[in-house]
Amino acid sequence: MKKYDFIIAGGGMAGLSLAYYLLQSPLRNRSILILDRELKNRNDRTWCFWEGTTKSSRPCAFEPVLFRTWNSVSFNGTTYAGPIDLGKYRYKMLRGIDFYDFVQAELAKYPNVEQKQVSIDRIKDTPQGGFVIANDEPYIADYVFDSTFALKLDQPENHNLLQHFKGWVITTEKPCFDPQQPKIMDFRVDQQGDCRFIYILPFDEKTALVEYTLFNGSLLTDDEYDAELRRYIDQFLDTGAYQISETEYGVIPMSDERTEENPSEHIIRIGTAGGFTKASTGYTFQRTQRYLQAIVHNLAKTGKPNRQVSWFKGRFKLYDSIFLNVLEKNRHPADDVFTRVYTKNPRRIFAFLDEDTRFIDELRLFATLPFWPFTQAFFDVLRRKLAG
Ligand SMILES: Cc1cc2nc3c(=O)[nH]c(=O)nc-3n(C[C@H](O)[C@H](O)[C@H](O)COP(=O)(O)OP(=O)(O)OC[C@H]3O[C@@H](n4cnc5c(N)ncnc54)[C@H](O)[C@@H]3O)c2cc1C
Repeated sequence: MKKYDFIIAGGGMAGLSLAYYLLQSPLRNRSILILDRELKNRNDRTWCFWEGTTKSSRPCAFEPVLFRTWNSVSFNGTTYAGPIDLGKYRYKMLRGIDFYDFVQAELAKYPNVEQKQVSIDRIKDTPQGGFVIANDEPYIADYVFDSTFALKLDQPENHNLLQHFKGWVITTEKPCFDPQQPKIMDFRVDQQGDCRFIYILPFDEKTALVEYTLFNGSLLTDDEYDAELRRYIDQFLDTGAYQISETEYGVIPMSDERTEENPSEHIIRIGTAGGFTKASTGYTFQRTQRYLQAIVHNLAKTGKPNRQVSWFKGRFKLYDSIFLNVLEKNRHPADDVFTRVYTKNPRRIFAFLDEDTRFIDELRLFATLPFWPFTQAFFDVLRRKLAG
């Protein structure tokens, strides 16, 4: 049996990004096998993320195929409606299909990269390397990078919310979108006791992706998402007639489940499977890029992929858990929590979500949040984690 240097189990966002970074590194001639059950030839999702514009921040590797870059975003909350200052950041949008095509064009240049459309049944560590069984065939490699592992999302000591959403790309008769400003949260929808908002990515004045998004524990039926989308469009957008050209549906775990990035010597979990999703927001794309670049850097330098994370960075996991606890227990209306977070912390919030702030800035941000709900959440998180 051929032994590969690297097997990438799951060629989605994390798997293909990893392959891309390996090919840009001194490891570009190593043998790589990518396994996925899908062909990734559909525009199955849209990624948005923010990036700094300072000299020290390197633009994303997929900059050439970004669909939009915005200098400003807008917000509709409990006490504020209007633009939010992005400061040194830009909000960017990448269409799934453009990302897949871009990476595939790069992979095609390298005969040492193989791809197979197969369903993976098992991944296990052996003394000889990481071992994968897919469509009853065995494969082995020095390292298996796994983005197919499913989180449990059922442990009582954790908070296991879901971010779920359905969106329509609509084209309207009348101009009704501001192409300069995506709307990152519009809370003018019935909260129904949890956290619900509309998210709008404008392509031009008459075309946009309009998404109904929830942070809670249970999915809706297709008809329920559709009804809320229709209600919002009728009530708040002066569209005239409109046509739906694409739909997008997604579920992202918002969980503080402890994830093992390196469960064993030859297996490394990446992407959502590796816990790269920011638990309190669901944003995954940019963190995955950063973490994968660190993994490839270590691999090229030391032969081992393991990422070192300082213990003090662990405080952000605690913040995420507290935030999830406030949402899960409904300790304070979510629309007001987000309004405070985004509108009272301009210039700080995006760095905070990037886990790139100083402790003093974090204390300033916490001072803008409702004191008792967050204090109660802090003690409840401690109790649950200690009991778990
Ligand atoms: C619709 C949608 C929109 C999103 N928007 C954003 C956003 O705007 N910003 C952001 O930061 N994050 C966003 N996310 C969250 C996150 O960035 C994406 O889910 C991202 O694709 C996660 O990357 P991944 O590689 O972990 O998983 P995936 O991209 O889902 O890749 C996993 C791959 O593994 C394959 N696979 C799984 N099991 C098997 C198996 N048994 N055998 C073979 N193949 C298998 C799948 O086919 C898939 O290709 C979004 C998620 C969704 C679903």
